[in-house]
Amino acid sequence: MKILVPIKRVIDYNIKVRVKKDNSDVDLSNTKMGVNPFDEIAIEEAIRLKEAGIATEVIAISCGTSESTDVLRTALALGADRAILVELEHNPEPLAVAKLISAVCAKEQVKLIICGKQAIDDDCNQTGQMTAALLDWSQATFASEIKIEGDSAFVVREIDGGLETLKVALPAVVTTDLRLNEPRYATLPNIMKAKRKPIDVITASDLGVDVSPRVSLLKVMEPPTRTAGEMVANVDVLLEKLKTEAKVI
Ligand code: AMP
Repeated sequence: MKILVPIKRVIDYNIKVRVKKDNSDVDLSNTKMGVNPFDEIAIEEAIRLKEAGIATEVIAISCGTSESTDVLRTALALGADRAILVELEHNPEPLAVAKLISAVCAKEQVKLIICGKQAIDDDCNQTGQMTAALLDWSQATFASEIKIEGDSAFVVREIDGGLETLKVALPAVVTTDLRLNEPRYATLPNIMKAKRKPIDVITASDLGVDVSPRVSLLKVMEPPTRTAGEMVANVDVLLEKLKTEAKVI
């Protein structure tokens, strides 16, 4: 069973996001970038399935500019067998990514796609669902446990007030939630080995996919700065202020 793991290159989650002066976008110049955290969880799960003898091959795929090669190298160092870069001039929207992944699946005989539930830069939470729809495959989102038995995947999802277990027929798209697993770190020997693993570079036109943007980003704003708090002498003063100044009670 081949598993495809889509990997997005995003701003490192520890970095404070800066907005460009003209408010046209987020400023990514000289910013640390890395693998989207939910995709690290996806790659870890795929590798565990390979180590358990369930998967035969783990393929990482990223759609973006040539800079996305670095996140694919990370996926290879973590244990992916090979990688595909769909090289584009700009970063694609979820629908374009879903179309590109679907086109690759048509060529690669993939049985399971494990992707992140959302990218932490755009918070779209769309790509996995759109990919399942385009391929007409089953989908199970926000997985906190995945088990493969025969031609089915059993997926546990965290929902309000409990856990839900789904049985989905393969092929399927599963999106990862935070508690699915704890990703390993890449060891130095594996980082060195990853340099020799293959990365196929293809274009959107090789796959016959139109990736022209359909959504325009109009404006990005910093959140308003919070004003300083005030210490009050006792609860009575606090209640008075909440009534007369904040008018919340
Ligand atoms: P999103 O729908 O943008 O929130 O992304 C959800 C998931 O789709 C991510 O966690 C990735 O697994 C995958 N994905 C999104 N964009 C890309 C991309 N440009 N290349 C590869 N995978 C992507």
